[in-house]
Amino acid sequence: MANDITQLIERNKVWAGEIASKDPSFFDQLSINQRPQFLWIGCSDSRVPPNQITGSLPGEIFTHQNVGNLVQLNDVNCMSAIKFALEELDVTNIVLCGHYGCGAIKAILDKSAEGLLKKWLEPIAHLYQKNKAEFADLSDDLAYKKLAELNVIAQVNSLCRSNSVLDRWANDKKLDIYALIYDVGNGFLKDLGVNISSKADLFEFQRSAYF
Ligand code: ZN
Repeated sequence: MANDITQLIERNKVWAGEIASKDPSFFDQLSINQRPQFLWIGCSDSRVPPNQITGSLPGEIFTHQNVGNLVQLNDVNCMSAIKFALEELDVTNIVLCGHYGCGAIKAILDKSAEGLLKKWLEPIAHLYQKNKAEFADLSDDLAYKKLAELNVIAQVNSLCRSNSVLDRWANDKKLDIYALIYDVGNGFLKDLGVNISSKADLFEFQRSAYF
């Protein structure tokens, strides 16, 4: 049977052996502590694994993933991850990454989300309703892409309103926030041109962006 748990464990043995053969002290050093430079907030989609698509090793990226890469101020899970990353790990960069081909985005545009998923994805549905006019002339493919990008921008705005982020800037500690989109069709990340590193940047961003 392909991809069963035995296969995962076997692949893990091979992977750990390869890492240790290149750097025998790798796991010893990582077991002492973690010092990631990045918090990555992204979608749970199996095609968008943060470490793999950025060629990063364990210890480099602290991650929080959920369906649709949402940052909701009342989501204890997401807020705890941000707080831990900024206050305990002293992470200095946050990447908000959405992706093309996102099932969450498609579920909103196709109106196919049901039950709990429909409830979870409400922020994306509201975002679409607010900007519906922008989608009038778009093909389905372009509409999926546009809503995925719009959603990243909206989630960056939400992220910047979290207490942990605002406290960090208020205390004059370095924190850069970036917005990226990953294309599952070619493996490339696209920079959406957002770099917010202060409350002043945030005001500028909120003036220019539409949510
Ligand atoms: Zn997705």
